[in-house]
Amino acid sequence: MKVFHLNCGSLCPFGLRELYNSFLNKKKGPLENKGHSFVCHCLLIEMSDYLILVDTGLGLKNIEWAAQSYPGAFFTFFDQKRLSISETAFYQIKKLGYSPKDVKHILATHLDFDHVGGLPDFPKAQVHLYRPEFDYAALAPGRYYKKFWDHNPLWVFYDRPTEYWRGLPCIRPLKGIAPEIFFILLPGHTRGHCGVVVETGEKTLVFAGDAYFYNHQLTSDSSFNIPLFLYNNFFQWNKSEFKKSLATLKDLNKELGPDDVLFCSHDKIEFGKF
Ligand SMILES: [Zn+2]
Repeated sequence: MKVFHLNCGSLCPFGLRELYNSFLNKKKGPLENKGHSFVCHCLLIEMSDYLILVDTGLGLKNIEWAAQSYPGAFFTFFDQKRLSISETAFYQIKKLGYSPKDVKHILATHLDFDHVGGLPDFPKAQVHLYRPEFDYAALAPGRYYKKFWDHNPLWVFYDRPTEYWRGLPCIRPLKGIAPEIFFILLPGHTRGHCGVVVETGEKTLVFAGDAYFYNHQLTSDSSFNIPLFLYNNFFQWNKSEFKKSLATLKDLNKELGPDDVLFCSHDKIEFGKF
């Protein structure tokens, strides 16, 4: 197994860069606040005869549809995306010398546009998803951009967790995938939001998706800052579930071995360490 860390999208949600500059910079905060503040951290995993993508980030259609009507145009404005073909998973996979056709499985942490924008670029891949996320997407049309799955991907749904991993409900094994790669349930950001664990044999990677937003949240709960307050209060499906998931991750973070890594989707500093 070989794991690549890809940034498949650079974002700077409207207004947040200014807030970072005015608050965090003075306090030597954890964020780099020049340029695009957020990455879309995705994993590409090379197995013996196929590839797995964990989230797709922004894809070719995000670029093609950027100026189209809501929600595409709204999010293009709000998130101030870089929208570069060179950041798509499709492009980066080819640059690494693979064929996008070899992506047989995509594990989606959830269905927000910055995590599944690349689904149409891999139409033959099986897309693994915790079913409550799909059901929630049907009920929350304003949040989701369903065009990203208009092509009817080969969904592989999971209705419920199968066991526990370090106290977290998990779904393991995933259909057709080695048991070293599996979902952990981290609801709150969205109803069916999951993280993904990858046990490489040498270390354990815990990809938390949007269960937190930047690393500071794992180690501090005392310092108040406006971007974090806004994020915690306006972008979560369920605040108390979100807090529960975050508390679990904080505990997990203390228990992980020195080589193990817990990381989320959008923290640019975390991404830079790989
Ligand atoms: Zn996100």
